[in-house]
Amino acid sequence: MSHLTSDEFRKYGHQVVDWIAQYLEEVESRPVLSQLEPGDVRDALPDAPPEDPEPFEAVMEDLNRVILPGITHWQSPNFFAYFPTNSSPTSILGEMLSAGLGVQGMLWATSPACTELETHMMDWLVDLLALPEKFRSETQGGGVIQDSASSATLCALLAAREQATSGASNESGAKGDLVAYSSSQAHSSIEKACLIAGIGRQMLRKIEVDEDFAMSSEALERAVRRDIESGLKPFFVCAAVGTTSSMAIDPIPEIAEICRKHGLWLHVDAAMAGTAALCPELRSMHRGIEQADSYTFNPHKWMFVNFDCNAFFVDDRQALLNALSILPEYLRNQATASGQVIDYRDWQISLGRRFRALKLWMVIRQHGREGLAQLVREHVQLATEFEAWIHDSEAFELVVPRQLNLVCFRHRRGNAFNEQLVERLNRDGRIYLTHTKLGDIYTLRMSIGQWQTKAEHIEQAWQLIQRTAEDLASETPTTTP
Ligand SMILES: *Cc1c(COP(=O)(O)O)cnc(C)c1O
Repeated sequence: MSHLTSDEFRKYGHQVVDWIAQYLEEVESRPVLSQLEPGDVRDALPDAPPEDPEPFEAVMEDLNRVILPGITHWQSPNFFAYFPTNSSPTSILGEMLSAGLGVQGMLWATSPACTELETHMMDWLVDLLALPEKFRSETQGGGVIQDSASSATLCALLAAREQATSGASNESGAKGDLVAYSSSQAHSSIEKACLIAGIGRQMLRKIEVDEDFAMSSEALERAVRRDIESGLKPFFVCAAVGTTSSMAIDPIPEIAEICRKHGLWLHVDAAMAGTAALCPELRSMHRGIEQADSYTFNPHKWMFVNFDCNAFFVDDRQALLNALSILPEYLRNQATASGQVIDYRDWQISLGRRFRALKLWMVIRQHGREGLAQLVREHVQLATEFEAWIHDSEAFELVVPRQLNLVCFRHRRGNAFNEQLVERLNRDGRIYLTHTKLGDIYTLRMSIGQWQTKAEHIEQAWQLIQRTAEDLASETPTTTP
């Protein structure tokens, strides 16, 4: 059998779009967390690949029968776990077009529109979020789309490593004494980047945090001084605007001052929170980022662009190129040689790259800045209401004050009780939330940012949480620490 004919492609293509539309309409009624046991999906699949062609219809049937039950529904309005990874109808269409074009954007010459639209979108993001002008493409700096914040942070770390060792990091002994810093609350991707970049996890200092779980700049200063006195070479700080546990915001101006004084690269990780800067009234969280050497946020979390789409900005693109560009013979071309174009392969780890700017462009045009800001504002408003309910509740309490769209709370009966509560809620399936530990406190996280979430979902969730807690309390009469 050959490939689908154009007519077949049209027919099945329309079916697939109809399937997705119906899925998104009905996703709310499905158990948010997949209720399957390990191995269930594989048990339902044939052991061997088909010898002969199978009809498209058979695959769609199996999609419903085998795959759907094994899905945790990130696109459900009742998804309050982790952070959102939003899709949205416009973004899905952008993704389809990108697949349809199927281009590789590794060089400008391999698809000029892929590169130039990306450059343009990165400049638009500078406008939309009111980011520092030095991140614009017409300056020494610029932006690039990465697959994830983890990759962006790794690239920042590599650029900083090369800068700190004058490009000699791969020579023996050149980087043995480099030290990186983040807060104890920083995302695990920092530690992973240190492992990959050969810095070593023992050379990442996890700086203590204050009562709001933000990095203590005094502790950072002390640690940097101590390392310098021991003959080590501090070179990199990753500060968070919106930590994953509790959305804590590190004091960027104070951290930047320390970085400037000691010549350290400052990378700001705003993977989740960055999108909030669409709203002028929320931009104070970005105070100090004009002093950052690099900055990253994920449109694929809260900006309604489906995974993957991370935005990464540097104020000195040469530092990044020094770390990542290699030009083998088979990639040489006139446009590259002319120096007039951007080749984004030099701004990332891999060579190949997808046309991700397309979905970003389409989502931005679908809503406009004001439309996007309004969507974010609604989520923050819903989180504010949820916070007020917790505040007024006798059974529950806030663990830290709400930041943006994340409410960290717990039942007053203590850790073991809260652990059971979240277990029972997720097994029930009507909502999905996850936990973290803040200090010693087992904390429930209500993360409100899914694109279909409305007031009614938050109200239902709160009712369910209270009812489930009451049931559980009646079964377990004692309070745990
Ligand atoms: C989600 C998140 C990350 C990781 O993002 P990926 O794109 O999945 O790599 C890193 N840092 C923070 C603060 C995050 O919220």
